[in-house]
Amino acid sequence: MSRYGMIIDINKCNGCYNCFLACKDEYTGNDYLPYSVGEPNEARPFMKMTEKEMGKCPKVKVDYVAQPCLQCADATCVKMATNGEVYRRPDGIVIIDPEKAKGKREIVNSCPHRVISWNEERDVAQKCTFCVHLLENGAKEPRCAEACPSGAILFGDLDDPNSEISKNLKSAPTQELNPDYNLRPNVVYRNLPGRLIAGEVIFEDKQESCAQGVKVTLKGDSVEKSCTTDFLGDFEFKGLPAGKAFKLTIEYNGYKPQIIDIKTDTDKNIGEVLLNQA
Ligand code: SF4
Ligand code: SF4
Repeated sequence: MSRYGMIIDINKCNGCYNCFLACKDEYTGNDYLPYSVGEPNEARPFMKMTEKEMGKCPKVKVDYVAQPCLQCADATCVKMATNGEVYRRPDGIVIIDPEKAKGKREIVNSCPHRVISWNEERDVAQKCTFCVHLLENGAKEPRCAEACPSGAILFGDLDDPNSEISKNLKSAPTQELNPDYNLRPNVVYRNLPGRLIAGEVIFEDKQESCAQGVKVTLKGDSVEKSCTTDFLGDFEFKGLPAGKAFKLTIEYNGYKPQIIDIKTDTDKNIGEVLLNQA
């Protein structure tokens, strides 16, 4: 038996909203019984998009967090059901039964992630079904994953050790959205938004040109990341934990290294860092 899940990588998301639009296109006005009824035109798609701004002017960034129903193993929406109106299939997909759930507006509030909406026209609560109607007809993935041009949404069978998603899960740690909810989601993330540290490097003796290729290393709180400055001399580190102390080391052959202590109590733009000749 398959058990479906997703990994969504925020660093691969370019904010094109194709997943959001594909979801809207799939469900608006279309019934897929016994799993879902057509969404009204004006309804927000089941794929929720959140834009997270970070940084300090002029180093400002936006991350886009695509959030379908997370198909939780310990779903509060299933636990709060009294008559099978919300249930979990053996393949892990959580379904709101459009017949049994009729008139039960309280289902909307059973999800702490707020991904259940109320369909006024059809008198029923609704959410993402992982496009189960397509999977049952041979599709390999839901419309959102299919529509994503950058491979930010990876869908597959978590119980198949040879599936791409199972191999990917082993390759690097993932993160849960709001882990405090303890819902054991089958949709997990990489590179969720966090604090940002950014700045730019200038060579003291060549101030008219950009300091490209300078090594910048960030260490602290079990984090060690490094990058090189881009063609503008800029660098940035995203997704950092809040309220932690870090050491930033900036080094380039022939120049004295700069070491800067930083705390991520807020996003930080450290501005221009001047490197002097050794
Ligand atoms: S994300 Fe919300 S609606 Fe989806 S399974 Fe979890 S608790 Fe239920
Ligand atoms: S389709 Fe992919 S790249 Fe576009 S917004 Fe959705 S997750 Fe991001």
